[in-house]
Amino acid sequence: MSIIHILSESVANKIAAGEVVERPASVVKELLENSLDAGAKRVEISVEAGGKRLIRIVDDGQGMTHDDALLAFERHATSKIRSAEDLFEISTLGFRGEALPSIAAVSRLVLETRHASENSGTRVEIAGGKLRDVKEVAWPQGTCIEVRDLFFVTPARRKFLKSESTELGHVATLATHYALAHPEKSFRLTSLTNEILNVPPVASHRERLYQVMGGQTLEQLLEMTPVERRVLTAILPESGEPEEPSTEAPLIRVQGFISRPEVQKLNRNNIYFFVNRRLVRDRLILHAITEAFRNILPPGVFPIALIFLEIPPTEVDVNVHPSKTEVRFRHGNFVHDLVRDSIRQTLLATRPVAAFPMSRSAPPAGLAVEAADVADALAEEPPLMRAATIPPPPPRPSAPGTSRDFNLSPPRLEPRAQRLPLDSALAPYAPVAPSGAFPAAPANAEEAIQTPRELPLDLQPLGQVQESFIVAVNAEGLWIVDQHAAHERVLFDRHVRRRQDKKVEVQRLLMPIIVQLKPEQQVVYQAIAEELGANGFEVEPFGQRTVAVKAAPADLPADEVEKLMIEILEGASREGSALSLDELRGRIAASISCHAAIKVNMELKHKKMDWLLQALGGTDCPMTCPHGRPTVLRYGMKDLMKAFKRI
Ligand code: ADP
Ligand code: MG
Repeated sequence: MSIIHILSESVANKIAAGEVVERPASVVKELLENSLDAGAKRVEISVEAGGKRLIRIVDDGQGMTHDDALLAFERHATSKIRSAEDLFEISTLGFRGEALPSIAAVSRLVLETRHASENSGTRVEIAGGKLRDVKEVAWPQGTCIEVRDLFFVTPARRKFLKSESTELGHVATLATHYALAHPEKSFRLTSLTNEILNVPPVASHRERLYQVMGGQTLEQLLEMTPVERRVLTAILPESGEPEEPSTEAPLIRVQGFISRPEVQKLNRNNIYFFVNRRLVRDRLILHAITEAFRNILPPGVFPIALIFLEIPPTEVDVNVHPSKTEVRFRHGNFVHDLVRDSIRQTLLATRPVAAFPMSRSAPPAGLAVEAADVADALAEEPPLMRAATIPPPPPRPSAPGTSRDFNLSPPRLEPRAQRLPLDSALAPYAPVAPSGAFPAAPANAEEAIQTPRELPLDLQPLGQVQESFIVAVNAEGLWIVDQHAAHERVLFDRHVRRRQDKKVEVQRLLMPIIVQLKPEQQVVYQAIAEELGANGFEVEPFGQRTVAVKAAPADLPADEVEKLMIEILEGASREGSALSLDELRGRIAASISCHAAIKVNMELKHKKMDWLLQALGGTDCPMTCPHGRPTVLRYGMKDLMKAFKRI
């Protein structure tokens, strides 16, 4: 007896759904793509319960005839390709003929549609993959699809969905980015209580960016001059004159926006890449972007980038992944270099002044000459001017599996003093403090400076290095304290205590600070508004996707309020994970203390240094800042003796 059998169509559809439909946002993606493929000029999306209860998409595209409306739910039914050859020249967003049957297999779906060639529309109702009803209805041209109770047939799958606000955030991000890629179309996204996005058609990506992200984001961005190149130019001529690219060669066009170098994001969430207006993830392009920013951004921080690539369909294979989010380029290296060079050109043309010190390590071999130029130019600036803009160093990448942004599990004191190599302890500020400044003990220079286990209370401050690090002594040796990190720790402890006691001190702002939110930030804002209130913020809605901050936690300089709000919203919306309330509180406290803390390059009076050292000693965990970086380094008596060869 044979034990192999062919799966029924309904099982096959559920399997396909597993690949294509991960969450409400993936349903929205497929339906949006269908609407755009159908030539819609206007797409309206409404969701309830983050899309878990309802997703409804209405478009004014070409619609479907009665017969097509039924055929569309068959597996591998598509109007977009006919033969295998067509796979190599796909100009539509869809082509697999899988989305509608997959979605219908795991939800209750109603389709209403009318094609211009027919007088009446068609209504099709399907639940859990079973056809329930088909009838004639009156319907204007175009299509409406309603998807209710996603995964009601697969409760196990439903459990994997995150909170409503997280899912809504994903939907908002998705709709936002399709809106960015299609400025000539109008998009609207609403939840039961809110209009999250509403953008009428505009003429350029720039105007669309302004509609969607607001003027403040636009100010952080540089628009790239569109670059067009024929693929053959990539092939270097063996000798002599550059070869004339043949007019037959495929033409590739890059345009988009990148952030100014002073904008530093803690994750890659703000990097978006579109190939022929399809939003994709692509490691090659990510690499090209990182390369372009090399030595302009410090390692571990990321820019904002929106890159639009237009490329003949024959040059790119989109049939790589069921959800069509990955692509393969025929001339990958060419595309990589084109993207990297276009970004770099933009960065250099605008002669950005970087707001951080350059790493002293030699540029890696093969680095474009221009990068070294920027580095040199920066190195020539007077140290003080440069120091004035030193931001706190980016958090160290934490262990895999933990948050990249913050590490708020109470920093453990290592059983043994953690040893910091000289280089990593001092390198970020190396241009003004040459590493030779410290006498290095011959064999174990790297181990001489260490983060001690406990902070004694009898430290005598002597002064500051570069108005950034406090130098102190006691009988045990020499101590160096990062004044920003130390103050951060002090403020963090105090804020956490006050938040627990519900006694956060509040300052009213003279003028409310207006903050524009991106669609997904608005979703996050609504989810955490109450917690923001408990942390000393008084925030009120102020027009569409704009809020007015009227009061903020005491101690916070007014010009930090906006940055802080955005940082909190971004930190609270990390990809894929809903934060627990504890995590959220920890992050808010860390952000507040970071923005309120004494900065680097700030002169401190002796009394203030004394106070800071005492206050630090009184905290629960004086050795690390709330982000997990060390606050104090020690150069012990023994190390000194050794270094001077006295022992
Ligand atoms: P694919 O997009 O890969 O072709 P789908 O399952 O997403 O597969 O859709 C099947 C077919 O249904 C499409 O090829 C298209 O002809 C039709 N269709 C789906 N959505 C729409 C829409 N909003 N407007 C018009 N036709 C649509
Ligand atoms: Mg489709």
